[in-house]
Amino acid sequence: MEFKIAVLPGDGIGPEVTSEALKILRVIEEIYGLSIKTIELPIGGASLDLYGSPLTDEALSEIKTCDASFLGAVGGEKWDSETGGRRPEAGLLGLRKELGLFANIRPAKLYPALMSACPLRSDIAEKGIDMVVVRELIGGMYFGESGRITTETGEAAYDVERYSRDEVARIAKVAFEMARSRRGRVTSVDKANVLESSRLWRETVCDVSKEYPDISLDHLYVDNASMQLIKDPARFDIVLASNMFGDILSDEAAMITGSIGLLPSASFGEDSFGLYEPVHGSAPDIAGKQLANPLAAILSVALMLRISFGLGEAAGHIEAAVESCLDDGLRTADLAAPGAMRLSTEEMGKAVIQKIKGKP
Ligand code: NAD
Repeated sequence: MEFKIAVLPGDGIGPEVTSEALKILRVIEEIYGLSIKTIELPIGGASLDLYGSPLTDEALSEIKTCDASFLGAVGGEKWDSETGGRRPEAGLLGLRKELGLFANIRPAKLYPALMSACPLRSDIAEKGIDMVVVRELIGGMYFGESGRITTETGEAAYDVERYSRDEVARIAKVAFEMARSRRGRVTSVDKANVLESSRLWRETVCDVSKEYPDISLDHLYVDNASMQLIKDPARFDIVLASNMFGDILSDEAAMITGSIGLLPSASFGEDSFGLYEPVHGSAPDIAGKQLANPLAAILSVALMLRISFGLGEAAGHIEAAVESCLDDGLRTADLAAPGAMRLSTEEMGKAVIQKIKGKP
């Protein structure tokens, strides 16, 4: 099988963590007899420095010739004074929109070996956390009409939350399909007691659910959902949410699993092309110091193999190797107990490779 992947290391710790994940991909390529071509392209601040734009037309055209793309992270203080389309994040938002990546998947799982890193009460954590946040990615308030106006009482600003039935239906289908390969439960999050866009969201999700009689569906208002994530996270299997609600809830879900350095994500559209990236940002505070946890990037590569390339066995191979490293007590600085031994970014990458190759 042949694949071409656009690698977008980006800024801060992006290059460090993508480099470890690519080494793992090369090992998987060999074990499973794959042929993976990679092409490295700049994005975010790195692209801004080189070409004056966080995502050039040339890079975008090249990405479109690939089967999937793999991104590190974008942003950093150096570019904080940039505005609008010159901000590093604009490169990423533009990429998602341009490629029609409407679905964002963020698995949040508490590994048994990391129980003590969970900030929740132990009796709650022990019930387990294993959920996937399915977030709509290219609609709602982040892409709605926005602006500033002068009113009689002074300046005002607005951002419009707007969803069509089609936009809601396509993301709801992703959630219901995913529930079929998991525990068969979808929780749709909205604010239907207040917002008209949420009432349309809820009606549409209910309509789509009729095609999935085998999946159970419940609805939570976003304020209640954020409480339940802390009070009883074990109740969640698939969490289906709009762009903004999903953004907030997925960070909350990330935090209760111990470290943001562990969580992968996938974004995709109507076809098999996907953008895979760790949930974390460019972490400028630790960049270049070999302190970053590469596991979120490594697990993002596993998601790519499973979702875009249909290679579930190879994906499971990586995921099992990561879990085995954690079971052995191997920790990067973000997860290590005070005074305990900590691995560098590169050492953790090497440990995962050893496990993949079946070496203790
Ligand atoms: P961040 O995720 O970069 O960092 C938050 C905290 O988590 C920091 O203390 C950092 O050291 C730590 N951290 C993050 N990833 C880690 C890892 N792999 N291993 C160990 N520790 C890790 O979020 P932030 O500080 O809010 O943002 C920093 C920059 O990243 C900003 O410019 C922001 O815009 C950008 N950002 C980019 C993305 C993206 O590229 N998708 C996402 C979020 C933030």
